[in-house]
Amino acid sequence: MNNPAGPHPTTHAAPAAPPAPGQAPAAPPAARPQRLGEKLVGMGLISNDQIQIALQEQKASKKLLGQILVDMGFVTESALGEVLAESSGTHRFDAKSAVLDSALIKLIPKDAAMRHKVIAVQREGNQIKLAMADVYNVLAIDQVRRYFNKADNLIPVYCTETEIMELIDQYYDYEMSIDGILKEIETGIREKNAALDGQKEGYTNPTVRLVDALLIDAIRVGASDIHFEPEGTFVRLRYRIDGALKQIRSFHLDYWSALVVRIKIMSGMNIAETRNPQDGRISYTVLGREVDFRVASQPTVHGENIVMRLLDKKKSLVPLEMLGFSEHHIRLLKTLLKRPEGIIIITGPTGSGKTTTLYSVLNYITDIGVTIMTLEDPVEYQLSLIRQTQIREGSGVDFVSGIKSLMRQDPDIIFVGEVRDEETAMMAVRAALTGHQVFTTLHTNDALGAIPRLMDIGVPAHLISGTLICSLAQRLARKLCGHCKQARVATPAECHLLNMDPEDPPTIYEALGCDACNRSGYKGRIVIAEILRIDREMDELIATHATRNAMMDSALEHGFIRMPEDGIDKVLRGLIDIPELIGTVDLTERM
Ligand SMILES: [Zn+2]
Repeated sequence: MNNPAGPHPTTHAAPAAPPAPGQAPAAPPAARPQRLGEKLVGMGLISNDQIQIALQEQKASKKLLGQILVDMGFVTESALGEVLAESSGTHRFDAKSAVLDSALIKLIPKDAAMRHKVIAVQREGNQIKLAMADVYNVLAIDQVRRYFNKADNLIPVYCTETEIMELIDQYYDYEMSIDGILKEIETGIREKNAALDGQKEGYTNPTVRLVDALLIDAIRVGASDIHFEPEGTFVRLRYRIDGALKQIRSFHLDYWSALVVRIKIMSGMNIAETRNPQDGRISYTVLGREVDFRVASQPTVHGENIVMRLLDKKKSLVPLEMLGFSEHHIRLLKTLLKRPEGIIIITGPTGSGKTTTLYSVLNYITDIGVTIMTLEDPVEYQLSLIRQTQIREGSGVDFVSGIKSLMRQDPDIIFVGEVRDEETAMMAVRAALTGHQVFTTLHTNDALGAIPRLMDIGVPAHLISGTLICSLAQRLARKLCGHCKQARVATPAECHLLNMDPEDPPTIYEALGCDACNRSGYKGRIVIAEILRIDREMDELIATHATRNAMMDSALEHGFIRMPEDGIDKVLRGLIDIPELIGTVDLTERM
């Protein structure tokens, strides 16, 4: 390093470049321009002549070399940016497909953002990413540091100057909050210069900003679905949070047609089609996270109903241990997963979290090092190391032909999205009989219900008994918020419900509500499950068409813990409250 005390204080944080061979040590230009120039010449982006002209120009103008090269048209801004970002080891920030947090951005006042050409784009814990055109500009980072907390760690990411100026323009000059945008639109409507337009791109269009703001808001509060429901004169907006629909706001029906068009454009639907249901998908980077929205429209008498489901790629993969299975169930499941061949069924109604559990299980197994292939309808989350195929009704790939071709790919484990008919069921059984572990899902009320269901579909009893490893049934219950849940002693009636002695009542918890849980008293969800292990005795009972009661007696004798007991255990541990227990599992069939 030749000029640590040189006149360019902004360069000292840059990684050291190896000295160029044959380079005279005397009177070097500043470290960065030299390296940058060399690099650009080396990559064939500019010629030696051009770099000499630019260096001449730099002496006169005192501008950054890169800026001069761009101004003179020798290199494009984005090509320069790639080189700068790459040589500094920083990441390129994709401003085009990102939706940012205007509250975070506004921590840096506009004039400071303009002066230093920097914009705060992402916060994760105390790491804050600053998009900058000049990632070497330590001085600028120092200048804006005062607007953040002491513990915040500022990390530069690269963005072209044009993009930064556009972001500054957009986030400082245009209203980005839902209320603000609605007010802006309302004013426009009142003054008859209505700015409602679903087709015009760009942030000058309030409709574009409104949809963005709504999506950000939904992600921020942890919604899994966004419902737009047109009524007589207004559109109701509801979010599904932890499984429960929550009314968020309603807005005037006048807004709806523009919003529908905007959402349709974003999700690749036909904007002219309003009489038939449509499906679409939006891929988006929101608040630094990659999020997909699956969008469905449904015509109603009041207009098109739209439901958007968030497929958060980051959120989807929950470690098996984090789903809320009891220790007993985790141990049992891990033991059963070691069986190399046979069928594992996960059962429960729609919305009971089957898919999440399945992905967690598959992801747990990938660690062991096997080939996993799936047939899904649709593929909801993409997993690395697992080869997933989407089933399309009416096209070449259905479940039956899918399993056939899958088997030729020599997988160890296959997941068949859902067994609905005899042909698919028999293919799955055949796969299990030929040495594969097969996962599938069914819609039954409980674990034991899988056995008569398979028989109804047409699988002979002796084949079920020979191949079934286990049947897992589950529900999802809202988990009590750890910050505000309130302890109290159970009443005699509750003791009866919980199978506890009223003379010695247990402590239970109830929901209260605080800032941490959106005043609901609940935060996140937890699995309530039962895992029916098909042991030798159960095999025998299945093969001889024994009654449900006989099977249940045998299972309970061998340590089967049913959903009601698992739920009660979770109440006694303070994880869920009694209303959730009653609402989630059927306590009446308990013996
Ligand atoms: Zn709370």
